[in-house]
Amino acid sequence: MAMKYISTRGNAPELTFEDVLLTGLASDGGLYVPKEVPQFTKEEIASWRDLSYAELAHKVIYPFVEGSVDSDSLKKMIDEVYSGFGHKAVAPVQQIDHNEYVLELFHGPTLAFKDFALQMLGRLLDYVLERRHEKVVIMGATSGDTGSAAIEGTKACKNVDIFILHPHGKVSEVQRRQMTTVEGDNIHNIAIEGNFDQAQDMVKASFGDQAFLRGERKLVAVNSINWARIMSQIVYYFYSALNLGAPERPVAYSVPTGNFGDIFAGYMAKKMGLPVEQLIIATNSNDVLHRFMSQNQYEVRPLKHTITPSMDIAVSSNFERLLFDLYDRDGAALADLMAKMNAKEDIVSLDESKLAKARELFDSYAVNEDVTIETMQEVYNETGYLLDPHTAIGVKAARACRRNPRIPMITLGTAHPVKFEEAVQRAGFDMPALPHHLADLMDRDERVSVLPAELDKVQAFIAENTFK
Ligand SMILES: *Cc1c(COP(=O)(O)O)cnc(C)c1O
Repeated sequence: MAMKYISTRGNAPELTFEDVLLTGLASDGGLYVPKEVPQFTKEEIASWRDLSYAELAHKVIYPFVEGSVDSDSLKKMIDEVYSGFGHKAVAPVQQIDHNEYVLELFHGPTLAFKDFALQMLGRLLDYVLERRHEKVVIMGATSGDTGSAAIEGTKACKNVDIFILHPHGKVSEVQRRQMTTVEGDNIHNIAIEGNFDQAQDMVKASFGDQAFLRGERKLVAVNSINWARIMSQIVYYFYSALNLGAPERPVAYSVPTGNFGDIFAGYMAKKMGLPVEQLIIATNSNDVLHRFMSQNQYEVRPLKHTITPSMDIAVSSNFERLLFDLYDRDGAALADLMAKMNAKEDIVSLDESKLAKARELFDSYAVNEDVTIETMQEVYNETGYLLDPHTAIGVKAARACRRNPRIPMITLGTAHPVKFEEAVQRAGFDMPALPHHLADLMDRDERVSVLPAELDKVQAFIAENTFK
């Protein structure tokens, strides 16, 4: 049966998977979620124990795309994507203490977990667009990881032109080169003479009014408001849990969190039948979610730039998807709540009963820069294993919030340390070597256009460079 998707604010049309893939925000301002969550029995999950990552991915993803992508085509995409990863297990589990693990999600082409979803997104887009005889433009702003993963994921797409904005001079050299050295006429890097927020604002404004695009083109979002990203991330929760004894044995996760996309995938895995006992929201000093979960006070504060840039957010968009469930999927009630939360004037609190429901599964913890560095040092001293700073935040939160030491605690290893030179050096370590496929990264030619932080100039550049 074809899966249908509904908006969290209850006032937008129901869509199929392929329309959701191409849509971004719902017309009522909400986010799309599956109308019914696929459920698997314990027996069914147990029968998947011996499957490879790719085989398991097909089981988990297919119910979400049914009706839009046929089973064989999905299998082909999955095989292609995950055979390109730099580790045979795709998402291997590394033990760092008794009953404590890191799930290594950095073996994809750009060395961060975002490859799991954006590699799939590129294939799915091309498949759907080919059939519809349509072409689209991807526009996104990045402070690092999303941009390179999106470019790698869509570089081979015939029907996609991609424009990624980054703040000029404000991303690390490895991260910049991972974007600017990718070859392809459909890839356009724009360095904005401004900061990330200005780049992000220009992307938002462009989605709001797309008249600047040529022909019948539409913009497609590659940030985690796109459901296809969340869906692809559910798989590694199943994979790691099965490897550690689920479904007979429960598991717990600690997730370095920014926009709440990755951890929402863990929440989905639980709803689908995986015995997830605890999910820890690990944040850096941009701790809006930790303050909310621990004090029931939602208050947006100005963005702080940290040594964990991929978690630097003022507002976590995907949190709305969880709130939707906490409000028993009442779109009208959620629309009211979101209006209050987005007004940013007052501190917003929920009904204690709603928060209590969330706290049955979720804990939260915030980690500052000094403690991040100390945790990198601590784990290295205990095991000889070098964590990236985002993962270190996850490990710290796991150790602080763990409820039951008998349940395996798995921290999501969201990136490879080689991407975050500043943190590695501050912790006093030598930089690890770049993996083989990136060994010549520093010698490759770069392609990038530097533009002022002016919306009309950026839009004119995009219009001019689309599908030549
Ligand atoms: C994107 C990212 C995160 C945050 O993930 P969300 O889905 O936005 O919560 C954490 N760590 C790294 C390395 C990332 O790239």
